[in-house]
Amino acid sequence: MVVETIISGGTVVTATGETDASIAINDGKIVGIGTDETLPDATETIDASGLLVMPGAIDPHVHIDDMFSIDSYESATGAAAVGGTTSYIDFAWQAWDGEMGIWDEDGTLLEGVRRKQEKGENALVDYSLHGAIAREDPDVFDEIPDVINAGVTSFKMFTAYEFGLSNGFMNRAIQRIAEEDAVGVFHTEDPSICDSLTEQFKEEGKGDPEWYPKSRPDYAEAMAAEDAARMALEAGMKYYGIHTTCRKAADILEYFQDDGSMIRAETCTHYCTLDDSIFEEMGNLPMIAPPIRKPDDVEAMFEHLHNGCLSVVSTDHCAYRLDQKQVENWWDSAFGANALQVSLPVFYDEAVNRRGYTPSFVVQVMSTNPADTFGLSQKGTLETGTDADIVLMDPDETYVITADDNVSKAEFSIYEGRTVTGRVKKTLVRGEVVAEDGEVVGKPGYGKFIEREIPDWNTH
Ligand SMILES: [Zn+2]
Repeated sequence: MVVETIISGGTVVTATGETDASIAINDGKIVGIGTDETLPDATETIDASGLLVMPGAIDPHVHIDDMFSIDSYESATGAAAVGGTTSYIDFAWQAWDGEMGIWDEDGTLLEGVRRKQEKGENALVDYSLHGAIAREDPDVFDEIPDVINAGVTSFKMFTAYEFGLSNGFMNRAIQRIAEEDAVGVFHTEDPSICDSLTEQFKEEGKGDPEWYPKSRPDYAEAMAAEDAARMALEAGMKYYGIHTTCRKAADILEYFQDDGSMIRAETCTHYCTLDDSIFEEMGNLPMIAPPIRKPDDVEAMFEHLHNGCLSVVSTDHCAYRLDQKQVENWWDSAFGANALQVSLPVFYDEAVNRRGYTPSFVVQVMSTNPADTFGLSQKGTLETGTDADIVLMDPDETYVITADDNVSKAEFSIYEGRTVTGRVKKTLVRGEVVAEDGEVVGKPGYGKFIEREIPDWNTH
C-alpha cells in the first residue's frame, strides 16, 4: 500500500504526552503512527524534523460574517489556517428585528443555520455552528430537535444586550435543551448592573477607555454565571460558560462543579495573556465584553485551567476596522477583537515558555477538550482513524506579532508588538496543506460544515 502523505521525523504531541513518531495520512484520515520503517510508503513526505506535530486547534467561540464581524468566511478561515486552527464553531443567529440586528424581521433558528452554511461555502477550514437564541419566543423550543438533526447540538444564550434573555425564559430554554441532552452555551453578565454603570459614566463624562472595564465589573459576570449555572444544575443540562474572565466567575463555576455535575467553561487567550493596563496603551482597541481584567484575574485563569475548572481556551474572534474602534468615548466603540491567526502561538508562548506548562497542556485545552465538549469525535487528537487535522509548529522560532500580517480583514491586533516563541509552519485540514509559512495555500470551499453529535460528558 502507498499512502498519500507521511509527516516524518517530528515530535507528536497529544493531550497525554509527546513521542517521536511519523504519521501516515490517506484520504483525509490518519492511517498510522509509528516509525518510517513500520509505516507504508507515501507519495509525498513532509519533513517535520525539529517541529512539534500537534492536532489543529479547535476554536469553539468565533464571530464571522455577521453584525459582530467584518470578516468573510474566506478571510476568517484564512486567518485560522495560518494560525493553526483547523476547525471552529461560529454562531447561527435567530434573526431579530432590533437596533443591533441586521434583519428587518424575526426569523427562525433553522434559517440562521442555513444562512451561515451558505456563507460557509467559502471556508478553507472546517466549521460548525452553535444556535443562538435571540428572542423570547417559545416557538424556538419546537425547533430544537430539527436544529440538532441539522448537526447543531449546542445553543447559545445571552444574559445581556437587546438579545439577552430573562432568567424566566432562559430557565424554560434550559429545561428544553436538557430534554434533548444538548449543550447550553452562556454569555453571562448581569445586564442591569452593566447598563446602569454605563449610564452613570456617560452622565459623568467618563469616556476614556480605562473606565470601560469598570462599567462591566467582575462581580456582574459572577452573578449572572451563578444564576445560569444554578438553572442548568436544576434541569440537569450540560452547561458551557463562554469567555470566563475573572477569579470571581471561575470560583462560582468551580463551586457548582463540586457535585460532579455537568458544568464546563472556557476562557480566552486574551484573558490569559493581557491585563487592564492595556487600555491605557491601546485605547478602545482591546475593548471586549466582558472586559480584560486585573493581573490577579490572569493568574486565576491559569489556576483554574490547571485544576480543570476551566477546560478550553478560545478566541471570541470578531474583526473590526480601526474607525469602528477609534471613537471619542468608549461607549461608541465596537466590542471585540480578532485573534484567530495568533491565538495558538500567543497562548502556547504564554503557557509553555513563560509559565512552564507542557505542549500537551496546550493541546488539551485548545484541541482535545473543545472536541470532546462539543461532539467533534473525528477531531482534536492524533489517532488512527481520525481526521488528519494537523499543525506543524516550530517551538524555537521567535517572531513579533503585527497587524500588517493579518489575513483577517481586521485592521489591528491587540497583540501588536508582542514577541512570541513558537510559530505555526504548516497547517493541514483532512490531510491537505491549507497554510504554509504564514501564507494561505488552501482553496476557499475546501472547508466543510461538520455535523456534530450530542456529546457525552460522562467520559471527562
Ligand atoms: Zn463572543
